[in-house]
Amino acid sequence: MELAVLGSGSRGNAFAVRARGVSMLLDAGFGPQTLTKRAERVGIDLGALVGVVLTHEHGDHARGAGRIARAAGCPVYASAGTLAALADRLGDVPRHRIEPLRPLSIGPFSLTGCHTSHDAAEPMAFVVSTTGGKLGLAYDLGRPTTAVRYLLRDVTTLLLEANHDEIMLRTGNYPPAVRERIAGAGGHLSNRAAAELVAELIHEGLELVVLVHLSDRCNRSDLARSEVERALAGRRFRGKVLVALQDEPLPPITVAREPSQFELALTG
Ligand SMILES: [Zn+2]
Ligand SMILES: [Zn+2]
Repeated sequence: MELAVLGSGSRGNAFAVRARGVSMLLDAGFGPQTLTKRAERVGIDLGALVGVVLTHEHGDHARGAGRIARAAGCPVYASAGTLAALADRLGDVPRHRIEPLRPLSIGPFSLTGCHTSHDAAEPMAFVVSTTGGKLGLAYDLGRPTTAVRYLLRDVTTLLLEANHDEIMLRTGNYPPAVRERIAGAGGHLSNRAAAELVAELIHEGLELVVLVHLSDRCNRSDLARSEVERALAGRRFRGKVLVALQDEPLPPITVAREPSQFELALTG
């Protein structure tokens, strides 16, 4: 399975996964033109989508969903609450409900979701797997819950929110109500909270952590990366940490499969 980080941040989020010649979009938080242009740059044909999967209805995740799905002739997949919140915007696009912790097959992909703590109708985090790898996506979450930890326990590639630096948020120029929302249980994960969660989730198969949904006002990529790398230092993590960009796709990433016990024994 291949992953394309098409862009991530407070102003829009979208990822594509590709396997056996077809692709699936995870969130569509840019307009159709931007999405199409970025997908083309990383060799993904949005006309060959098997589905558009949405974490929740906020514009920075769902803005282009209806138009992209309609153009591709594929369904939108989301929780019942998210689909209800988007009913007007999706119009006649076919849709499928995602039930928590119940795996769903979409083309060559298996998708499992769980609820997250965020101020939206029924937001979810996801794991996508194929025979070739397992990817987790968790962002827009105020707190990591037991369900999220369970869902992400054995992914080989982890896309995790590192929204804000706690000091920059506290000293920045947001009105107090906004600041409290961001830091609250229905808000966003700080660099520190992301670092703690990554440290908890380390296992031998975890090869890549991509930090996503960085705030452009209360974070910097060097701060997010160093906070997470500090939490990983001295642990058994042999993988890489990348930071997603808001305005540019990252070069395509191969999502590794879980190494076998035999391979683990060989590498010590
Ligand atoms: Zn968001
Ligand atoms: Zn949101």
